[in-house]
Amino acid sequence: MNQQAALVELKGLAPASLWVSPRDIAPDEWSRLESHVAEILTALGMDLETPGTHDTPRRFLKALYDATSGYDGDPKLLTAFPAEGTASDDAWPAQIVEGPISFSCLCEHHALPFFGTAHIGYIAGEQIIGISKLTRIVRLFARRFTVQERLGEEIADALVELVGARGVAVHLEASHLCTRMRGVEEQSTTTTTFWRGEFRDADLRREFLEAVRRSGERS
Ligand code: ZN
Repeated sequence: MNQQAALVELKGLAPASLWVSPRDIAPDEWSRLESHVAEILTALGMDLETPGTHDTPRRFLKALYDATSGYDGDPKLLTAFPAEGTASDDAWPAQIVEGPISFSCLCEHHALPFFGTAHIGYIAGEQIIGISKLTRIVRLFARRFTVQERLGEEIADALVELVGARGVAVHLEASHLCTRMRGVEEQSTTTTTFWRGEFRDADLRREFLEAVRRSGERS
């Protein structure tokens, strides 16, 4: 089977949200978009005729494109899961907690950044997953226009679907520039926690939140 066919086959198995066809923007489409950006920046008061700002519409568009690369999917997430076995059937469900994993997003309400850290806890089923893969999963969903609530749900569901985790906990803490830069310039952070499967157990939830708190003290 060639690589393309293998990817198509894997694509059928993986959650649709992990694989989106890479975006394709033609060169003349880029120039058209740049002229719209130039129009908006000029209307807002920017002088685009200086050496520092001449290229700003192009750079701004490129920066937005890079910040939303999660829409291109991540083929490596489909192919590189370890098939390492975990404990025997009668073992206690023990959780693995990883973090802090830093992330940056663009909020879908204002297209302004929100950024912070994620902690992920999971109880392995058949497979375990390394910190680098967890980071990839977080970044895949973070680099899109999103909201903090959906980001957490998507990370939790991806872990359940991709590695068959028996339980997942996702704790996100983020600062939102749409509240910091405008109006009352609120300096607070927003914390959200999401639970799946065996984390219905209150002791496991407490243990996870305690691990997140200790990690916060260390960093
Ligand atoms: Zn916002």
